[in-house]
Amino acid sequence: MASASAPRVIVAGGSLAGLFVGTLLRRAGMQVTILERSNADLAARGAGIVVHDTLFAALDDAGVDRGHTANIASSGRQVFDREGAIVARRGMEQFFTAWGTVYRLLRRAFPSTEYHLGRTVTATRADGKRLIVETGDGECLAADWLVAADGSRSALRAGIPGTAAPRYAGYVAWRGLVLESDLDDACRAVLGSRMSFALPAGEHMLCYLVAGPDDDLRPGHRWYNWVWYRGADAAVELPRLTTGRDGKRYTDGIPPQLIAPNAVAAMRAATSSRLPPVFREVVAATPQPFLQVVSDSMTARMVHGRVILLGDAAFTARPHVGLGVSKAAGDAHTLMAALAANDTAAALARWEDARIRFGSAAVAWGQRLGAYIGATDHDAAGRALAAYYAQPETVMEQVATAHPEHFLHAGVD
Ligand SMILES: Cc1cc2nc3c(=O)[nH]c(=O)nc-3n(C[C@H](O)[C@H](O)[C@H](O)COP(=O)(O)OP(=O)(O)OC[C@H]3O[C@@H](n4cnc5c(N)ncnc54)[C@H](O)[C@@H]3O)c2cc1C
Repeated sequence: MASASAPRVIVAGGSLAGLFVGTLLRRAGMQVTILERSNADLAARGAGIVVHDTLFAALDDAGVDRGHTANIASSGRQVFDREGAIVARRGMEQFFTAWGTVYRLLRRAFPSTEYHLGRTVTATRADGKRLIVETGDGECLAADWLVAADGSRSALRAGIPGTAAPRYAGYVAWRGLVLESDLDDACRAVLGSRMSFALPAGEHMLCYLVAGPDDDLRPGHRWYNWVWYRGADAAVELPRLTTGRDGKRYTDGIPPQLIAPNAVAAMRAATSSRLPPVFREVVAATPQPFLQVVSDSMTARMVHGRVILLGDAAFTARPHVGLGVSKAAGDAHTLMAALAANDTAAALARWEDARIRFGSAAVAWGQRLGAYIGATDHDAAGRALAAYYAQPETVMEQVATAHPEHFLHAGVD
């Protein structure tokens, strides 16, 4: 239990970055309240994620029993051509989990009395040495720090110098979860527990096993998580895809059930000319595909007065790096040490510097990995980069790897 004189922290955003930072700062003795804009529990969100050591380290120091978090082991990777032949293979042990598994663990570890759904942070203002945090329902809360964990479309970072709106990458990710039992035996045998890829011209698809509904690990009850990256020009195709069946444009993410049926039908139809048979079946058996607009976002500052940005609100790297959750965990874990330091200002400055370097490298690496997707207007250097990142060996070696540190700094200059 935090003492009444302990620093008071309000966290805007109750997704993974918010929950990591909330749980860790509470563990360090601070008084923490999380305000989440969404009215509904977020557990059903997200799909599969790659597990890195950073994630475990943060869970351990947050006092969270990680139990069977890394619940699916993959022994290697394979790339199919359009006819379904395996054109490349690589051994690579790696662990996956479901986004919802991590969310549920953290929710259980954080007191529900301090986690509030349906509450939006709208503004902050200085009040002497403290901060006043305003909410959409008209409340004003005093705090020592506001941690903005409000995601890649963060409104709270608008007042922070050096931030810019997310930049569209030129392509979208169609995603889905399909139950193993909804695939035929031959398809399951080919996919197995490997991470599988296909690389149609200018596109990229990957698929791997994750725990099923309610973290079910029994064979036959797990999900295959798939992502199909496809170019969509910003002028015509993107607005079409992000306009819902209700006629409204959803620039911040379209709810799956509102995606226009003809957009889903066109995507499903395209599988026959673009994807190997095994992936055609995976897409066909997926009841409700969802759509993610891929973008990059960066910031020059993560600390501004008493407002601290982290997670996707600070840096959003493309999903190919498979780092979003681990980066959020790493931001939160290292922030815990900085805020608990005797010289908080100096420790925060060092934290900001280190996390900006990490976030910038992650964004740059994601841009490289996605260089061959969508865009057709590359210059010669861009074409060479795209050709390199379209090679099966490069894709298998680098996409969402178990050891991103090998590529984060060395590979981006
Ligand atoms: C196709 C795909 C594959 C991915 N694969 C991986 C992977 O393999 N590994 C991985 O680590 N990551 C992966 N990610 C990314 C990962 O899901 C996120 O990076 C991670 O969850 C960190 O997000 P966050 O908490 O910072 O932001 P978000 O999850 O976006 O949460 C922000 C929260 O803030 C709330 N909010 C917004 N504004 C306010 C406000 N003003 N007040 C209060 N609340 C507010 C929102 O409702 C939301 O719940 C993938 C993403 C995609 C699209």
